[in-house]
Amino acid sequence: MRQIFTVLHKEVANTCLCNLGLTDSRRFSTKCKGMPAPRRGGTPALRLLSVAIMLMAAEMTHAQVRRENLYEFSLPRMGTILRVKLYAGDQNEAHRAANAVFDRVEELEEIFSDYRDDSELTKVSQEGAVAPRVVSPEMFELLAASQRISELSGGAFDVTVGPVVALWRAARKTHALPDAAAIAKAREAVGYQYVELNTQNRTVFLKHTGMKLDAGAIAKGYAAEQGVALLRSRGFSRALVAAGGDLFIGAPPPGKPGWEVAIDSPDLSNGSRACTVLLHDVAVSTSGNAHQFADIAGKRFSHIVDPSTGKGLEGEASSTVIAPDGATADGLATALSVMPPEQGLKAAESLPGVSAYLIRQSSTGWRYYSSPGFPQGCHEAGKGGH
Ligand code: AMP
Ligand code: MG
Repeated sequence: MRQIFTVLHKEVANTCLCNLGLTDSRRFSTKCKGMPAPRRGGTPALRLLSVAIMLMAAEMTHAQVRRENLYEFSLPRMGTILRVKLYAGDQNEAHRAANAVFDRVEELEEIFSDYRDDSELTKVSQEGAVAPRVVSPEMFELLAASQRISELSGGAFDVTVGPVVALWRAARKTHALPDAAAIAKAREAVGYQYVELNTQNRTVFLKHTGMKLDAGAIAKGYAAEQGVALLRSRGFSRALVAAGGDLFIGAPPPGKPGWEVAIDSPDLSNGSRACTVLLHDVAVSTSGNAHQFADIAGKRFSHIVDPSTGKGLEGEASSTVIAPDGATADGLATALSVMPPEQGLKAAESLPGVSAYLIRQSSTGWRYYSSPGFPQGCHEAGKGGH
């Protein structure tokens, strides 16, 4: 599989790499980036004071210059690599915190995976058309966010696209295009309008039989945000969690205005078009066909499908969205991949705190589109769009 486009966090220099063995036999990899070493002991003036005062002062000095290192951990989760980066006082506390994030994301995977027969999502797909079904708060929240993005994007994003996605997943293996009749049949059971949510009872009802929910375009961003929220609740606010191309970014690293996020371009002929933005306390997601696609009959089809045609998207492209929350960034990045660029940018800009950056291959070359709210660093990269 080719890796031509990633949103990645660039926090390099002075890194040391080590592996930690875990009690449950999983392995983390961790990198720690050294901050300036704390001063040991008291100042000459302090040494002249009494022992009691010296101890108090030493304690204060230690707290004030508490050493914070950058620790990195990664494990496979949600069909991708989940990375946790956090600043912490020592490796053990960082390790425990990252472990809690991996466990939380595993819980979310048990809720949202459409690959698992026993996930809550699979059960909703199987039984949601029989009668309204009470779902977990997480499921309800994610489906409510999905519906909002579907309405905003006119159905370009659709969490019910599962039957069509199943055909394209098969096509990736067989290298044969799904036939038109199969696509038409699958599309009958696709439609976010068939999903009925009842906020009071926290129920989901599917108003059509044969529906198959697919949260693959929104759950990773949600999970990344949940991971950072968990770290924050444990006092690690300077952190980021990345589920593949879906990142949630917490408070900036010590002494810096933000985390550097590099947005690479799928335009391999001109790598310099890649740009870097400084971010904190936001979600950023990128969708494209860099990692998952099917090459069939000389054409490349993305794993993203247009629900209105049931076809996999063609052509190299990427869509990056910055949003206050992870579900919106992730879901909208997928929606914008399907929508015409200008229309997509308008949809993104209609939401507070949301901005987008799009790269499209056209018959006349590469086109770059950036909404005015997108952070400095990428506007200059592309000459196209507005
Ligand atoms: P992402 O990488 O976030 O763009 O999500 C892509 C995944 O979402 C695919 O692998 C499918 O499982 C699913 N998907 C594909 N097309 C759509 C769509 N138009 N709306 C919602 N989900 C989709
Ligand atoms: Mg997405």
